[in-house]
Amino acid sequence: MSDKIVKYTLNERDIPRYWYNVQADLPEPLPPPLHPMTGQPLTPPDLAPLFPMELIMQEVSTERWIEIPEEIIDVYRLWRPTTLFRARRLEKVLDTPAKIFYKYEGVSPPGSHKPNTSVAQAYYNKKEGITRIATETGAGQWGSALSFAGACFGLEIKVYMVRVSYDQKPYRRIMMEAWGANCVPSPSPDTNVGRRVLADDPDCPGSLGLAISEAVEDAMTRDDTHYSLGSVLNHVLLHNTINGLEAKVLMEEADAYPDIIIGCAGGGSNAAGLFLPFLKDKLDGTKPDLRVINVEPYSCPTLTKGPYAYDYGDSAKLAPIVKMYTLGHGYMPPPIHAGGLRYHGMAPLTCHLLKLGLVEAKAVHQLETFQAGITFARTEGILSAPETMHAIRAVIDEALACKESGEAKTILFNHSGHGHVDMHAYDAYLSGKLQDYEYPDALIKEALADLPKVG
Ligand SMILES: *Cc1c(COP(=O)(O)O)cnc(C)c1O
Repeated sequence: MSDKIVKYTLNERDIPRYWYNVQADLPEPLPPPLHPMTGQPLTPPDLAPLFPMELIMQEVSTERWIEIPEEIIDVYRLWRPTTLFRARRLEKVLDTPAKIFYKYEGVSPPGSHKPNTSVAQAYYNKKEGITRIATETGAGQWGSALSFAGACFGLEIKVYMVRVSYDQKPYRRIMMEAWGANCVPSPSPDTNVGRRVLADDPDCPGSLGLAISEAVEDAMTRDDTHYSLGSVLNHVLLHNTINGLEAKVLMEEADAYPDIIIGCAGGGSNAAGLFLPFLKDKLDGTKPDLRVINVEPYSCPTLTKGPYAYDYGDSAKLAPIVKMYTLGHGYMPPPIHAGGLRYHGMAPLTCHLLKLGLVEAKAVHQLETFQAGITFARTEGILSAPETMHAIRAVIDEALACKESGEAKTILFNHSGHGHVDMHAYDAYLSGKLQDYEYPDALIKEALADLPKVG
């Protein structure tokens, strides 16, 4: 009864052995990243205080396939390959002719796609003799993903967690501590930048950009410590392509190919991890009509409202200057529940692809994402992370458009994680207390006035 199948699975033996590097196939190369102090193009040695050399080389590599070390595969085995689902019950409730598929990444130990890269990053750091990694986290998913990876490879992990999430989401901190990490609210008194901000505003809710500044300062000032970023960078997107490569094999098993691929976009990694291996077919001309949609919050509309400009990766101007769609490095978005989507910029790779017209972007309101997330929970069962609900909203909109037009399109989306530690957000929605925010026009204007004068 193949017409009833909802799960497509791979054997553990079929875990991909190579990541796909889209830099080999870009029609134009990425604009070069610049040094935050000099404004000159960055060189690999500039990054050596922050990252192990193997990750720096992956960042700039134009090799199409990069082999995954056996030690990383052995940890991936704990939850990979992940399952491809056909959302038949959602399709039925929407009464749509569209076929909806999703790849479910919420089965990893921390509950999201993020250990695809945290495990790889911990491994390369360990291999280079590093014993401690400092990082930031928004909603707490990245901090927990790196803490899990630190436990796998015996590394000490220090996490600067955006204050608003630290207060809203104590369970993420407890997960990090269970895996042996040290997690503090950002701004923290542990760094110069944190102390400066706290002196001005003791109640500062923090931002991802500010937390990045703290973690970068920590790593720059200690020899035993490197920095690690959970999204945005080329190597992070690279590591996540393992998911899209699995999905390609599984879609073939389902005898389907997506017309539209959808993912939510905070820094861009989970969406790109799924779509890049398929985009390869668009780049080589075999699937010219493939559509890719990156979905972001209306409160942090980087791709849909930001200019394509050089900007700092963090608010203290310590991280490299990269060309991206940006709302300005000082932008602090309203405190929406999708903490992982509150970053002022976006992966330069995703931005480059958007600029070239190869992918699309869409912004959605918080309230309509929860409506979609609840519909998903009541049909497919999974309680999704608020970030993931952004993708689900766009999927439902596309499926309803198919109902209007009568087209039986195939939609594939990345289900980036479960929402089991976001029950307070569900509670706010279910009790009618969840609200949309006004468009943060003035905040964005102010932040954009401070872009670096380079490029
Ligand atoms: C972190 C996170 C995101 C956003 O990050 P990207 O790098 O854009 O993928 C989305 N969904 C979940 C569940 C996350 O944890």
